[in-house]
Amino acid sequence: MSSDAAVAPPAAAVAVTPAVPLLLAPTVEGTGVVHGFTTRLGGVSGPPYATLNLGRGVGDAPALVAENRRRALAALGAESAAHVEASQVHGGEVAVVGRADRGRKVEGADGLVSAEPDVILAIHAADCVPILLWDPRRGAVGAVHAGWRGTAAGVAAAAVATMRQAFGTEPADLRVGIGPAIGPCHYEVDTPVAEAFAAWPCASSVLRPGRPGYWHLDLVEANRRMLEEAGVPDAQIWSSGSCTACHRHLFFSYRREGLTGRMGALIGVRRAPRISLPPSE
Ligand SMILES: [Zn+2]
Repeated sequence: MSSDAAVAPPAAAVAVTPAVPLLLAPTVEGTGVVHGFTTRLGGVSGPPYATLNLGRGVGDAPALVAENRRRALAALGAESAAHVEASQVHGGEVAVVGRADRGRKVEGADGLVSAEPDVILAIHAADCVPILLWDPRRGAVGAVHAGWRGTAAGVAAAAVATMRQAFGTEPADLRVGIGPAIGPCHYEVDTPVAEAFAAWPCASSVLRPGRPGYWHLDLVEANRRMLEEAGVPDAQIWSSGSCTACHRHLFFSYRREGLTGRMGALIGVRRAPRISLPPSE
């Protein structure tokens, strides 16, 4: 008998789901919101999707993805049914969603916004930039998927504009969290991609020359600058600072691994607790 077996606890009578760790943006923490960025830890999928793959359509078994999604939403204190996702076509479209969209995948959208409780907006990514937005004044949230095409199409600014139009959001009120994404250390692009950003005022901050004909693109910085330009104060924008390709045990990276899973960026409006007052005396 091994020493491990000797100290093994007795079989539990109740199955306990291990907790799913979530990265939390300090800018997006508050009583009116639930949010988190998942890592690859805490799920049930095997290689190359090990373990917490939240992406459908990447070759993983649907039942395993469903269990992973259930765990991720449970970590937020939400039920699986609350999930709303975007089809993520690398464009600039943002959709307003609500309870009627629970369980849906919204076609043609790379961003989702909502002001209704019991709805969890979900973005799935493995290198592309996941962005979560919260307007504490209007009680509204947003989730954005921004790869280089979506960034060039201005999807993050479109989310701010959509929240303003739909909910009256003032950009100065927005709190933003930017999750793990591929960093300039691992993101080499060719000239046609670099050209999409060459005319930006911040081009020298987001593009650095690499070997001949190639550039290192900082997509997180490009989105941060875009959000600032849209009126979000710099101090209210948090970035994890983590490169997905630098940390293979923590994050999925499409560029590093090819066939791999997807992490989630999740956010929802928290329903205000009901308070029962005692009868007046
Ligand atoms: Zn890196």
